[in-house]
Amino acid sequence: MADTLTVSGNRALMIEEPLIFELGHPGRVGVDLPAPAPVDFDRLGGCRRSEPAALPDLAEPQAVRHYTRLSQKNYGIDTGFYPLGSCTMKHNPRLAEKMARLPGFADVHPFQPVGTIQGALEVIDSLAGWLKALTGMPAVAMTPAAGAHGEWCGLMAIRACLEARGQGHRRRVLVPESAHGTNPASAAMCGFSVDSIPAKDDGRVDLAALTAKLGDDVACLMLTNPNTCGLFESEIIAIAGAVHGAGAFFYCDGANFNAIVGRVRIADLGIDAMHINLHKTFSTPHGGGGPGAGPTVLSAELAPFAPLPFVVHGTDGFRLIEHAHDAPGHQPFGRIKGYHGQFGVFVRALAYIMSMGADGLRQASSDAVLNANYLLARLNDALSPSFAGPCMHECLFDDRFLKDTGVTTLDFAKALIDEGYHPMTMYFPLVVHGALLMEPTETESRETLDAFVAVVRALAAKAKAGQAEEFKQAPRFTPRRRLDETLAARTPILRWRPPADRQAAE
Ligand SMILES: *Cc1c(COP(=O)(O)O)cnc(C)c1O
Repeated sequence: MADTLTVSGNRALMIEEPLIFELGHPGRVGVDLPAPAPVDFDRLGGCRRSEPAALPDLAEPQAVRHYTRLSQKNYGIDTGFYPLGSCTMKHNPRLAEKMARLPGFADVHPFQPVGTIQGALEVIDSLAGWLKALTGMPAVAMTPAAGAHGEWCGLMAIRACLEARGQGHRRRVLVPESAHGTNPASAAMCGFSVDSIPAKDDGRVDLAALTAKLGDDVACLMLTNPNTCGLFESEIIAIAGAVHGAGAFFYCDGANFNAIVGRVRIADLGIDAMHINLHKTFSTPHGGGGPGAGPTVLSAELAPFAPLPFVVHGTDGFRLIEHAHDAPGHQPFGRIKGYHGQFGVFVRALAYIMSMGADGLRQASSDAVLNANYLLARLNDALSPSFAGPCMHECLFDDRFLKDTGVTTLDFAKALIDEGYHPMTMYFPLVVHGALLMEPTETESRETLDAFVAVVRALAAKAKAGQAEEFKQAPRFTPRRRLDETLAARTPILRWRPPADRQAAE
């Protein structure tokens, strides 16, 4: 509060909002109920509270204002441009939300008899059909609940297949150094060891270094394509050939699928398994922890090891295979999630896909790539692009343009907040110094991109003109200034205590 400019701590209509417990006033209520009649018997078996629950006491308008103000503090894709890379914070049409809320979908229960959920099973089956068509792959495991979960599912199928072949000794997984952190984590969770492979100066996998690392103990390569630098792995066919030549599998991290939907079939690249983040590519709002879904497409060789349960076409309608003995020819590696997957996310994805159509999906990926290249071209001379040539759906800069200015990538991001923008992704991927990764997505207009470009260029000019102090002060116009993020992460205060309690504790 020390450096706020107003008496209240508010800034114009930006209200300084306390916790709801701090707002409460003992005895204040939002309803008017008659006092309960005294109870002379204990229906709770001696478990009745001895003192009142520590609930906040508020009148109705206070409660309404509190939650409305909190909702207004949420910066999201509905309030402004969100150039965060590596995560595809795209516009998700309201139509998909509306479909997911239809009572027939929203109220369906996983314990309902299969005869009463034929429509729901058809949604899962139709979506699976689209995912197979878009990737050219013969099978898809629908139950993974996130991208990382999909990686784990694909690796478990690979492990099961290797064991079935008598090659359980293949326990090493090759992961490029630019990979998302979930890749090595998933491999480790599957009991594999992780071996990092370097990138070349052009930001792509070093094929020679990869080939040198291949051997009889390698289970698979995990490669992201387009990779986390926003680049298409141009040698991917040769990479697949080398990996298969060494008897290993080729896992693809498909989180960046939105760059190539309708343009590249995964099967044609020699990929054996790939997860698809439905919440990044196919319309589910995310950020803040889910829900998401990470269906994993599988090659014919891996398909028999897919986890239970899965949907099949029966003689009269759809059936759900819940047990291995109901699936001749399959050796499922197990079950990875309760029930049948993230059904609400499936409904959104199918609604999105059907409303876009095959041509619309192709257009969306083309526009995403066009928008990213527009940003790259317009910022090329003001920032320092990490790699030469065009990009895919996101463009990557590093902090060379800030050299000797005293301004860091972090300062630059904080200054963007003052300008009303959510910052780009910072310091990821790790393969370049002080990364600034920007993904505009396909729905942003040229005017939005131009306005953003003008701000970024002006900030870059300020930094180069020696105005570092201004950057160190940023953000200046937010309800909170720069936080001690390390302290907040290490010593989070997650529980509110009444002031009296706090004094007693001290
Ligand atoms: C988002 C992302 C993941 C992980 O996906 P989650 O759904 O967050 O688990 C993996 N790899 C890349 C490249 C990603 O962008």
